[in-house]
Amino acid sequence: MIRRANIAGAGIGGLTAALALAQQGIKVCVFEQAPALGEVGAGLQLSPNAMKVLTHLGLGEPLQQVAFAPELARIKDGITGRDLVRLPLKDQCEAVYGAPYLHVHRADLHEILENAARQLGVQIKTGSTVTGYTTSGLRVDGNEEQADLNIGADGIRSAITAQMHPKFAPRFTGQLAWRGTVPTANLPDGLIPPDATVWVGRGAHVVTYYLRGGSLVNFVAVEERDDWQNPSWRERGDPADLLARFAGWHGDLQTLFEAVDATYLWALFDRPQLPNWSDGTTGLLGDACHPTLPLMAQGAALAIEDACVLAGCASRSVSDVAAALEQYTRLRKPRATQLQARARRNAVLFHLDGPFQGAVPRLKLSIAGHLPDRLGLRPFDSIYGYDATQLPE
Ligand SMILES: Cc1cc2nc3c(=O)[nH]c(=O)nc-3n(C[C@H](O)[C@H](O)[C@H](O)COP(=O)(O)OP(=O)(O)OC[C@H]3O[C@@H](n4cnc5c(N)ncnc54)[C@H](O)[C@@H]3O)c2cc1C
Repeated sequence: MIRRANIAGAGIGGLTAALALAQQGIKVCVFEQAPALGEVGAGLQLSPNAMKVLTHLGLGEPLQQVAFAPELARIKDGITGRDLVRLPLKDQCEAVYGAPYLHVHRADLHEILENAARQLGVQIKTGSTVTGYTTSGLRVDGNEEQADLNIGADGIRSAITAQMHPKFAPRFTGQLAWRGTVPTANLPDGLIPPDATVWVGRGAHVVTYYLRGGSLVNFVAVEERDDWQNPSWRERGDPADLLARFAGWHGDLQTLFEAVDATYLWALFDRPQLPNWSDGTTGLLGDACHPTLPLMAQGAALAIEDACVLAGCASRSVSDVAAALEQYTRLRKPRATQLQARARRNAVLFHLDGPFQGAVPRLKLSIAGHLPDRLGLRPFDSIYGYDATQLPE
């Protein structure tokens, strides 16, 4: 019988797991190393597969209130601004996949998850660093915190993963992301399309979209940089450097970047595929086991799906936690591995890699741009159509 669960990390994955387990009547304690809860000041694209889980957990309504629903998924040439691909999201997602595609501010999603979890009695202990696990609990600040089920949701630098798989350290992917937000009021009217827009170019791409009902524009600008030596993976960037890096790109992006007050630099890491995601009563989820490049906007979605499937397996196999975690891994690992690979491949497409100025990715984009709406969305069916709330028999 699972009476108590411990979770390392109060990120989006950890809090979703806490809520899903608490809804089953399990007493949950989340240990977060940061002195206060919160998320970075940036946006998140929540595709229908993530929204299915969040709606199932009762968060659909509050999320709709703070979100922005993009009209299209749009790919533009980053230099000329010409539309290469346009796929309907707002019209199609609900009808085809049974859930909307939403953009939310990370802090809003985090707060909604936190409130829902606390209402069910989830304890969240900030300033608590998890250093590893034992056969019956987590090691937190030198003490053993016992529980029937233990979860490492402590992100790319996971202490739980480091103990479980010491030889599988995170590695730098050669890509850096700049991100930030700009108040829409500080920009010319209609500068940024009301879509999930990817601006593609040689060796870099930029993503733009709206948050909070359209009052904020979020940007993520990813560039390839083999020379990155800084051991920190997250630091403040200089907006002037951002402008310089994207000099020569489309004028609308220049105007957007000129309005940026603050930006953060994210070195993007991944890690070799792990042989397994659990050891006895301790399991892993989210970036702790399958960090995913942001080129499919699926990292947080996968963490949210993991949380739901893990809670489902735990409710089915209450007397054998280790077996529940093994079943969870069997259900989740192939999907996560597949999406990690797709995200890596998207770097070739979005960065117009390869000979002849990226002739192959340009051809692929040109074909995609001529497909009718439903056919164009089909490659996303296996991603957006997935329903983590329905466990197979
Ligand atoms: C630029 C960029 C854009 C992205 N855009 C999207 C998107 O649009 N859509 C999408 O689905 N995904 C996106 N992602 C991916 C997504 O952000 C991550 O996959 C997701 O945040 C992972 O959640 P997590 O809970 O597993 O880990 P994290 O969010 O990293 O949370 C881990 C938590 O654990 C805590 N922690 C760490 N170590 C310890 C410890 N030892 N003890 C206690 N606590 C600890 C941390 O402080 C943190 O709170 C993007 C990523 C990047 C870099």
